[in-house]
Amino acid sequence: MGQIYLKNGFILSMDANDTVYDGGGVLVEDDRIIAVGNVDPASLKSDAEIIELDGKYILPGFVNTHVHTSQQLSRGVGDDVDFITWLHKRMWPFESNMTEEDSYISTLLTCLELIRSGVTSFAEPGGQYVSGMARATKESGLRGKLAKSVMDCGEGLPKKWQLTLEQELEQQIIDLEKYHNTADGRVQVWFGLRTIFNNTDELCIRTKELADHYGVGIHMHVAEAKEEKDYTYDRFGVGTVKHLENLGVLGGNLLAVHTVWLTDEELELIKKRDVKISHNPASAMRVLGFARVPKMLDMGIKVSIGTDGASSSNRMDIVDEMWLTSLIHKGWRLDPTVVPAHDVLRMATKWGARALLDDKLYGSLEKGKKADLIVIDPYGPSMMPVNDKIAALVTAMHSNNIKSAMCNGQWLMRDRKILVLDEDAILREANKRTKAIYKRAGIELPDRFPVIKVADND
Ligand SMILES: [Zn+2]
Repeated sequence: MGQIYLKNGFILSMDANDTVYDGGGVLVEDDRIIAVGNVDPASLKSDAEIIELDGKYILPGFVNTHVHTSQQLSRGVGDDVDFITWLHKRMWPFESNMTEEDSYISTLLTCLELIRSGVTSFAEPGGQYVSGMARATKESGLRGKLAKSVMDCGEGLPKKWQLTLEQELEQQIIDLEKYHNTADGRVQVWFGLRTIFNNTDELCIRTKELADHYGVGIHMHVAEAKEEKDYTYDRFGVGTVKHLENLGVLGGNLLAVHTVWLTDEELELIKKRDVKISHNPASAMRVLGFARVPKMLDMGIKVSIGTDGASSSNRMDIVDEMWLTSLIHKGWRLDPTVVPAHDVLRMATKWGARALLDDKLYGSLEKGKKADLIVIDPYGPSMMPVNDKIAALVTAMHSNNIKSAMCNGQWLMRDRKILVLDEDAILREANKRTKAIYKRAGIELPDRFPVIKVADND
């Protein structure tokens, strides 16, 4: 791949001191960053590609710590319906009628949206086919931590999903041994636990043992909805986090998603056990709950950001989620100083990498780290004029300000053009497959307005 020198930028390194370079550049060689800021011209090889940035911003690629790539085709399947209808009549029929090829196309479609919103690394909490997701992630050029949707108990599950604990663990080990650390290390496999409703205590304990053994993470929805809180208090007399502590499952390799319904004691446990947190503001607003992010930040918990799935928040755009993260807590806390923009940038970059156990590899622009970066052009009516450059990235930026994205030294997008995937072909195929899944699953969405079908004149 050789050398690429991005010069004359405004560089947010997101290193330990959050150093910003107003001018200067980033020098990439193969898959690594070899210099940041004041780059010595003598370190440039004669065939280095030089890119003039003219003051555009360079940031580490964003990290989306919770995105259901296998739900992308189900976008819009559950708008404005109650939780039980959403789960039993829409999501479960939809997901259980997906094929391996559907999972592949769904993941490709997600990857397009991730790349366009500046994401270079993501974590998928549990799809139907790790094989399909791994194939798509490899082709996309992105980094992904993939997990299977794992359920060994629960009422009303589709027949196809009624699996035993042993079957669920066995399939995950097969996937892990086949796909973990493939595609130059970009594709990794984690263990999944869907929710406490659908996972037995024994499965949680065995999963923790296996994750420790393989040195990988566990991705789990935790304390997501009030229904979950009611369920765990009825059954165990405590909340989900406290229950997982009692089982010995809390630890640095647990990525707990949502974490809305927590007691003060459970927040202390998260801090003490270094549990990683993924905050998904849009999805949390839909299931009606505000995670206590201001308190978490005060406690020194390094929260990360996720988009959830297209059936629960519709937009897999982390730029939107960054904006919402900065806004919603100001509203319910009646305090415009909480969750400041600079913390949101940390959440979307280096704290995201930390949540995925990869902070030594990426999440900041530093010599020796992987070349995962994005170029942002603020020039345009929605972002100009820029007075506070750091805040503008959270409060005014839209994903179309992200012009270029590089992962592992490879350009995935340049000047808004996707270089790694055939965008039109994926959009067409995704549309076709979605209609077929709706049909197989027997899902019919009611018309919201009267529709009159009119034949075209020619
Ligand atoms: Zn989720």
